[in-house]
Amino acid sequence: MNYKVCSKCKRRLEATEENFTKHPTCKFGFHSSCKICVAKYYKQYCQDHREKVSKYNKKYYQNNKEELSRKKAEQYQNKKEAFSKYNKKYYQEHKEEISIKNKQRYREREGESTNDSKFSRTYL
Ligand SMILES: [Zn+2]
Repeated sequence: MNYKVCSKCKRRLEATEENFTKHPTCKFGFHSSCKICVAKYYKQYCQDHREKVSKYNKKYYQNNKEELSRKKAEQYQNKKEAFSKYNKKYYQEHKEEISIKNKQRYREREGESTNDSKFSRTYL
């Protein structure tokens, strides 16, 4: 079993993904500090740089506004297409059922109207 000493807390830990975050450019394929230290560091970093981070996010949004809104529109379009595809598929799969239902509805309406005309014929 490989062991690795965390560069921050100096604990000797098994060099597994449980203890260390994978890092493709590191010597052993893991971060030099253990997961706990990385999480602590990351949390601390976010706290220390909260303004910077939120500014960065805002800036990112500003810089990529068009891109982001385009993506949103694209997603919407994709959803719409998927939905209409689904509708088409549903129609294809239930074509007979739908046409029977439509015919039924049509007949009912027809029936109503003939009843109506009968009704009006009889009572007029
Ligand atoms: Zn550590």
